[in-house]
Amino acid sequence: MSKHSADALLILENIANHPDAYLAEWKAKHQKPIIGIFPMNFPVEIIAATGALPVIIQDSREPISEGNTILAEFYCGYTRSIADQAMKGQLDIFDAFMNADHCIQLLGSVDVVREMLSDKPVYFEHLIAAMDDSWTKVQVQEKIDAFIAEAERVTGQAISNEALARCIKSNNRNRQLLRQVFEARRNGDAQFTPAELQTMIVSSMIMDKDEHTALLETILADAASKPRDNRIRLHLSGHFCHAPRVELFDLLEDCGAVIVDDDLYTGARYISTDINESQDPRIAMADWYFARNENIPCPTRVQKSVNWDSYLLNVLNNNGAEGVIVLMAKFCEAHMFYYPELRKALNSQNIPHLLIETEHEGMPVETIRTRVEAMIERIRRKSPSRQTTQESA
Ligand code: SF4
Repeated sequence: MSKHSADALLILENIANHPDAYLAEWKAKHQKPIIGIFPMNFPVEIIAATGALPVIIQDSREPISEGNTILAEFYCGYTRSIADQAMKGQLDIFDAFMNADHCIQLLGSVDVVREMLSDKPVYFEHLIAAMDDSWTKVQVQEKIDAFIAEAERVTGQAISNEALARCIKSNNRNRQLLRQVFEARRNGDAQFTPAELQTMIVSSMIMDKDEHTALLETILADAASKPRDNRIRLHLSGHFCHAPRVELFDLLEDCGAVIVDDDLYTGARYISTDINESQDPRIAMADWYFARNENIPCPTRVQKSVNWDSYLLNVLNNNGAEGVIVLMAKFCEAHMFYYPELRKALNSQNIPHLLIETEHEGMPVETIRTRVEAMIERIRRKSPSRQTTQESA
């Protein structure tokens, strides 16, 4: 990697790890609002079309202290971190908050934000979870129109179809570049580490998309493919609203594995779907909501024609992963309820998998290491060619 692209990657890393400085600088430069968006389904193009900056709020690495006094410990780490940040004044940079609700715990954290930052608009809408009903499409369209109306009200800026189309194009371009990197990894290119891929995604959730795209283009301009080595190939599945800890990626690689693919929100799920540029932008955004669930099914949605377990089996067939690490944020109900289906599907195909429950703070590294090593050993024993390689090594 040239110094030029290493510098670009470092800029993304700094922004992903410390978004505050970037946000303060952006606001001072543009004199426009910054709108905090909650994951996972809100079309950020709506906010960008007003000239404001949409930022998908990240969980903080800080230990949760004050947040524990207002949300019970059985809320997931992401939602308790949001409550914690709200109580500590760390969300003050945002001028308003918008949310396409997808789970009851997220709703709890949005309520804390509403209470603690009572002088700021907090807009909450529920995108219909039952995807197959005859009325769903009409209602999703109404919600998208309601998001647009609220974004106009909060920013005082009318949203034209032209502005929406421009922002859709810019976000699509960003997703396409990120997908290139993910596809290369799937096809055997190990140039970027899992931590670097996560940096690219998190910074995209925070930054102005055109700025992010320019840095990505710099990084990719001199990207030289690096062939994947012969370590055990793993797929990471799960983890929705917040990014897995980078230490976990390092641990997996330390144990002799290489991550070849994922369906994490801070990963392939976030970039899975473009908004159709040839449609009316408002209709295209409603369609995007349905298309996302078809591309990577989400357990917070209900759709008869797609399910996450079939998707996973299919994707494993294509990416050649030999095992699956299921990363489950502790107390994530949607994931907990769905996991038995995933386990059944993986067992039915005799695919080794390991469930790792993660918490906001504290990772029992050595316990996880032992379990990962045992799984990797199981995969080695399952594969005659791997046994031969090991014996002759
Ligand atoms: S979907 Fe899971 S991770 Fe996201 S807010 Fe709900 S409980 Fe937390």
